[in-house]
Amino acid sequence: MNTWQSNVRYVTPYVPGEQPDFTDMIKLNTNECPYPPSPKVAEAVAVFNEDSLRLYPDPNCRSLTEAIAKRYRVAPEQVFVGVGSDDVLAMAFMTYFNSYKPVLFPDITYSFYDVWAELYRIPYIRIPLMDDFTINEQDYLRENGGIVIANPNAPTGEELPLSKIEVILAANPDSVVIVDEAYVDFGGTSALPLLEKYDNLLVVQTFSKSRAMAGIRIGYAIGSAEMTGYLYNVRNSFNSYTMNRLTLTCGVAAVEDEEYFQEITGKIIKTREKAVERFKALGFTVPDSKANFLFVTHPDVSADELFTALREEHIFVRHWNKERISEYLRVTIGTDEQMDVLFAFLEKYLKERTVSK
Ligand SMILES: *Cc1c(COP(=O)(O)O)cnc(C)c1O
Repeated sequence: MNTWQSNVRYVTPYVPGEQPDFTDMIKLNTNECPYPPSPKVAEAVAVFNEDSLRLYPDPNCRSLTEAIAKRYRVAPEQVFVGVGSDDVLAMAFMTYFNSYKPVLFPDITYSFYDVWAELYRIPYIRIPLMDDFTINEQDYLRENGGIVIANPNAPTGEELPLSKIEVILAANPDSVVIVDEAYVDFGGTSALPLLEKYDNLLVVQTFSKSRAMAGIRIGYAIGSAEMTGYLYNVRNSFNSYTMNRLTLTCGVAAVEDEEYFQEITGKIIKTREKAVERFKALGFTVPDSKANFLFVTHPDVSADELFTALREEHIFVRHWNKERISEYLRVTIGTDEQMDVLFAFLEKYLKERTVSK
C-alpha cells in the first residue's frame, strides 16, 4: 500500500533529562547551574527597549560574537553563535560531516551525537572508552569522516589531556575535529590555543552550564574564520535569524561579567571537590571529574534502587539503562545546602539498608 508514511524521515529523538516541577525539589539531573545568572543580565533586561522587537535581529549577531571574541582573544569572524550548543552542534554535523567515511566518537558520550548522525544519515562508529572511562587517543588514528570529542566527557566528567587532543588533530588533517567543551569552565583545559596550529579544529561551548543560562539558549563555536564561514552558510540556508534581540542583549551582559563567572564556577568546583570526598566516604566509586557533575557507582546498592529512593525524596539525579553505565548515577553539583540534603539522605539510607539486611 502506498501511503505518505512511507516518505517520512523517521528518527528516534534525543531524550533530555526530565524537568520535574516541585517546590521542594533538589534538581541535580540536567547539569544546570544552581546559582542565578549574572546580575548584569537582570540590568540589561530592565533597560531593554521592547520597541526594537519590531525589527529583525542582526543575522550576524555581531554584538554577541564581538563580546565572545573579546573574552577569548579571537576575531569576531571566528565566532558562530546558535540556540544553545545543541543547535551549534547540529549545524556543525550537517556542515562538516559530509563523507562516506564514518564519523568517530566514544561509545559513552553525549547521546545527541548518534541522533544527529542518524538524522543526517552520516555513517558513524562509536569507539569504546577504556575500562576506566578514559579515551584512548590512539583509537582515533584511523580512517574517518570527522571526529567529535566531548571534553570533559559527559556523562563521565573525565578530561582528555590537551596533548592527546593534539595527537588526534595532528593525525587527522583531512577531518574536522569538533571538541565539545560544554563543561570546560569547571577546571578543564580548553583546546582554543590549538587553533593557532590546527585549522581542522572547531571548539564548541555553551552559556547553559557555567554561565547559568540554560533557559535562554546560547551556544557558540570558535574556529578559523574559514571554518565558521561554512557554518554560517549552512545556518543561513535554514534560518538567518536564530538569535533574537533579547537573547543577544542578555548574552553580551553575561559574557562581559567575568568576575561573576569566576565566582560561580569557583564555588561549583569547591563544592564538587567536597562532594567527591563525601561520596567516597560512603563507599561510592567516583571517577575524576572536571565537570559540574559526578558519575558515581556503589558496590552494594544498584543505581536503579538509589535513583528511585532519591526520587521519592524529590532529589532528582540522572540514570541511564544503558550498557556499561547502568550502575552509575550522574549527580549535578548543586549549592552546598543542596549537597548537604543529598548526603544526609544517602547516609541515612545506606545505614538503614545495612541494618535491615
Ligand atoms: C549540555 C550539553 C550540551 C548542550 O547544551 P546547550 O544547552 O544546548 O548549550 C552539549 N554538549 C554536551 C556534552 C552537554 O552536556
